[in-house]
Amino acid sequence: MVEPKEHGITRDDISDAALAVLDGLHDAGYRACLVGGAVRDLLLGVTPKDFDVATDAEPEAVVDVFGRKARLIGRRFQICHVRFGREIVEVSTFRADPANGDTEDTRELDDAGRVLRDNVFGSIAEDARRRDFAINGLYLDVADHCIYDYVDGLSDIEARRLRLIGDARVRYREDPVRMIRAVRIAAKLDLALDPEAEPPADMIELLADVPAARMFDEVLKLLMHPAGPQVYRMLRHYDLLRPLFEDTMAVLDSPTGAASEALIEKAIANTAARMEANKPVTPAFIFAALLWPAVREGAANLEREGMPPAPALASAQSQVVSRQVQRVAIPKRFSIPMREIWQLQPRFHKRRGRHPERLIPHPRFRAAYDFLLLRAQVGEVEPELAEWWTVMQDDPSTPKPASGTGSR
Ligand code: ATP
Ligand code: MG
Repeated sequence: MVEPKEHGITRDDISDAALAVLDGLHDAGYRACLVGGAVRDLLLGVTPKDFDVATDAEPEAVVDVFGRKARLIGRRFQICHVRFGREIVEVSTFRADPANGDTEDTRELDDAGRVLRDNVFGSIAEDARRRDFAINGLYLDVADHCIYDYVDGLSDIEARRLRLIGDARVRYREDPVRMIRAVRIAAKLDLALDPEAEPPADMIELLADVPAARMFDEVLKLLMHPAGPQVYRMLRHYDLLRPLFEDTMAVLDSPTGAASEALIEKAIANTAARMEANKPVTPAFIFAALLWPAVREGAANLEREGMPPAPALASAQSQVVSRQVQRVAIPKRFSIPMREIWQLQPRFHKRRGRHPERLIPHPRFRAAYDFLLLRAQVGEVEPELAEWWTVMQDDPSTPKPASGTGSR
């Protein structure tokens, strides 16, 4: 247990909504703690993205405390979302991981040993041990404002180290997404990944079986971030992208791989820089870059078989996207603009007549042009072509994109 004056976190560091939830549960007689990423981030001097609360109140009891502000969600973990104003605070009940203790194991596991359902309530210490990393298992109790540490998380914070709780192979088998979380948390917070927590090469394929919708959320959190480039390098280092983007990885392994990879890295760096500058960003752009190597190769193959360029590109796109969404479920609202970015690429080669003035007002012109710039930078098209379009769109006589649609 660490006293408030030692850990230095004050109520001012916690959002109003999270404080309201913590105080509300405490006033109703429950134990209420800030937990997970928020405690970790505050100890590391980082502003938390969101605040999670853990309590000994069962989900229905949380609803009783907050009434219409509260909503039960989840199946595998039943948790409660409590809304204050525009902020939502996630409230979870202390859970036991029966595999770690002497409680009877009532979890539902699938054939591969993954946890499907996990609603066995337990003590705070048990709750700490079923979390993924030690630094994610720290509790700040609103009653005394002390930090409770059951998993040696504080010494890892001190050492800036990311360590799994328990046996790596067991924890990664239970939930392979933890391998991805390891890379994300280590890269974003610049922590040393404990050698034991390095994703084992023979377990990486387990990611292929993670539901594609969950995987999409994870991929967004990985790459749509100012630290996206560092995350990407670590993902590649441990080969974690292979099960998620199989077709792309096959091209990256080929002789033309280096240029394709440069395009992906530039797209991720470009998004990171835009986020840093508070400019709008869209996952469509990163996905366009991530899948482009496979689309381009596919189209080139079809052209070699005699198909004209436009249908070859369209057909390759469809093939790549329909395979991809089985692993990472890119929703339509991103896959449609992604395909438009690709579809516009051949049109940049048509500079004669009225082609340019028809292309520039296209709602996806701006993103497609940014994509063309990346292609020019990696030597896929002549730099002169990209420059021509740079000059062209600034020409006062050129029609402009419809307002509000040109940003990305
Ligand atoms: P971020 O800053 O990205 O939100 P986070 O650690 O807060 O990082 P969340 O997904 O918000 O990540 O999860 C909140 C907490 O829930 C974690 O800190 C961890 O204690 C626990 N947790 C999340 N995912 C897992 C998992 N797959 N296995 C075990 N515990 C998990
Ligand atoms: Mg969080």
